[in-house]
Amino acid sequence: MKKVAILGSTGSIGTQTLDVISRQDDLKVVALSAGKNITRLEQQIRQFKPEIAAVWEEEDAKRLRLAVADLQVKIVSGMEGLIMISEWESSDILVTAIVGMIGIRPTIAAIQAGKDIALANKETLVTAGHIIIPMIQEYGVSLLPVDSEHSAIFQCLDKDKRNDISRIWLTASGGPFLGRTRKELESVTLSDALKHPNWSMGKKITVDSATLVNKGLEIMEAKWLFHVSLEQIQVLVHPQSVIHSAVEFADGAVIAQMGTPDMRLPIQYALLYPERRTIPGEKLDFYKLAQMTFSEADETTFRGLYLAKEALKRGGNVPTIFNAANEKAVSLFLKEKISFLQITEYIEECMNEIKEIKNPNVEEILFTQQMTEDFIESRYCS
Ligand code: NDP
Repeated sequence: MKKVAILGSTGSIGTQTLDVISRQDDLKVVALSAGKNITRLEQQIRQFKPEIAAVWEEEDAKRLRLAVADLQVKIVSGMEGLIMISEWESSDILVTAIVGMIGIRPTIAAIQAGKDIALANKETLVTAGHIIIPMIQEYGVSLLPVDSEHSAIFQCLDKDKRNDISRIWLTASGGPFLGRTRKELESVTLSDALKHPNWSMGKKITVDSATLVNKGLEIMEAKWLFHVSLEQIQVLVHPQSVIHSAVEFADGAVIAQMGTPDMRLPIQYALLYPERRTIPGEKLDFYKLAQMTFSEADETTFRGLYLAKEALKRGGNVPTIFNAANEKAVSLFLKEKISFLQITEYIEECMNEIKEIKNPNVEEILFTQQMTEDFIESRYCS
């Protein structure tokens, strides 16, 4: 029996993880955590009977304790609660389905407690990859990608052989604004940005997909996961989202992973690796697939991708500035306080203005996040 803890069980990845677990007799949930959605968390506690569950606010924890007083479950809160979920003694693997840099400390705690990590929370690797990756080796745990592109790359690699990666083709749907000009992007709305053509995801990553910031974050994620340089990663716009990514090896062979867009596949692959088991739902039918098209990404219109590459080249805390500025700007865009194009304008300004730190430790990463948020607050929100 593999015992699973989940950070962010009420979100898009979290609920799909529970769907996967509910179909497997040898996977069991032992720890759950949510931010604010205690109604959904209570339902999950009743269905999956975890030993512990966490919410962010202590007030919500009090209400939840009363609501589930008939069950044997410990309810905790705050960062301390997230860390308890991550280190929970009976768990074998932590699914990091929480959104944002808030995942850094709990992920580190889980690694130190010897847990394998099924990583969806890309913001942690983007900002603290130089700390996380050596720790994975030091503590002898596994880091299994959940992001569909990174899972695809992982599936293309042969675990029993040397993998001489010559380059990675990181596919991108192009998002809802593929083909638009910058002028046209001036007037797009929040509801336009939330209409992703192929994937149903949480709001933050859906906006990141529209700006192509998500693809930038994924380049950084790929660098850490597969030990490749920026030059080895080619972004490939492929609107049908059938090829989830591909790897070209030293001899020129290209291996791609394909399938219908369904996040349950990478989630299940991470949880059961290296086994493959049935997943219900539509499968790829090459007869019905009219065409697959490919193009280069437009980094002039979608400046977020260009800025991500710059952040990766500059290194140190610049990926943190990039990511933290994006998190803050997207939260303002989701409240309809700023326009779509302002998201990348804020990122660029933060990258130009905020002090660089080489090789930042965790405190310096979190300090950079705070400085970036304060910069945006004081410059634009006061
Ligand atoms: P969602 O917004 O759907 O879910 C986020 C989860 O995090 C929710 O359970 C939310 O709880 C929880 N959360 C937010 N803030 C806190 C907090 N302060 N304390 C505790 N929990 C918190 O996001 P997604 O599932 O879409 O994405 C999760 C991560 O996975 C992101 O890093 C994303 O980039 C990555 N990812 C997502 C994919 C997808 O298909 N959705 C694909 C690939 C990667 P609540 O709702 O209760 O407030």
